[in-house]
Amino acid sequence: MSSIGELLASAQLPDSDTALLDVELLLARVLGKSRSYLHTWPDKQLSAGQLEALNALLERRRQGEPIAYLLGRQGFWTLDLEVSPATLIPRADTERLVEVALELAPSSMARVLDLGTGTGAIALALASERPGWTVLGCDLQPEALALALENRQQTGLAAVDFVCSDWFSALQGQVFDLIVSNPPYIASDDPHLAQGDVRFEPASALVSGKDGLDAIRHIIASAPTYLAPDGWLLIEHGWQQGDTVRALLQTKGFTAVQSWQDLSGHPRVSGGQWHG
Ligand code: GLN
Repeated sequence: MSSIGELLASAQLPDSDTALLDVELLLARVLGKSRSYLHTWPDKQLSAGQLEALNALLERRRQGEPIAYLLGRQGFWTLDLEVSPATLIPRADTERLVEVALELAPSSMARVLDLGTGTGAIALALASERPGWTVLGCDLQPEALALALENRQQTGLAAVDFVCSDWFSALQGQVFDLIVSNPPYIASDDPHLAQGDVRFEPASALVSGKDGLDAIRHIIASAPTYLAPDGWLLIEHGWQQGDTVRALLQTKGFTAVQSWQDLSGHPRVSGGQWHG
């Protein structure tokens, strides 16, 4: 038998910046309790089944599996979202995209499209802040769409719509005041793909051609057809892609082209306005 306190003191830690936190989160998950419970009841004994479940999760964590996939949950904006290996784990950097979108679009009524919505994170975060907006999320992957619908259900943001679409392919004839996207933008030979959490995330959500810009080029080339006059296009991109993405937007004819910085001070979101 092992108590919570003994386990926290002796667990073989994963090789992670957040090793002890990871153990606490997994232990809390196995017990179906909060992290504060662990510190309030250090003498509580785990059953054999709980211990086995914990050891299995710890082993997967030591193999590098992202904590969000082990827990099946990730916080994003104010939302607690379900995640799965079908799609990208929402990142704090992407909250910057949400902030910028909220600043730029008219607060009362706007038609908004989230291209490649994955878990639905961006679409749901925007809808949670702007009940008057009409928000549509699209994704090509059926498993991602199922997850987005599950998250819609869990967050109670019933007004958000989700459709299956290969970028704009299923959206003919529709126009939006704001189009946002966190597309795949990593170059296919980027060595980071062999490190950390991204090893467990689907390539379709991460990688986009030789220079990582295939999806971004496609979105910028196609978006004007789907933008209302004065509508905005906002795209998340890699921290070294800001100059290129702004140049693509300018060449296409977008105005007010600019970039916004992420939490590390790198240009992470770029966008422009379309006058039609
Ligand atoms: N920001 C992610 C990373 O660098 C990539 C996400 C994406 O390609 N959209 O791990």
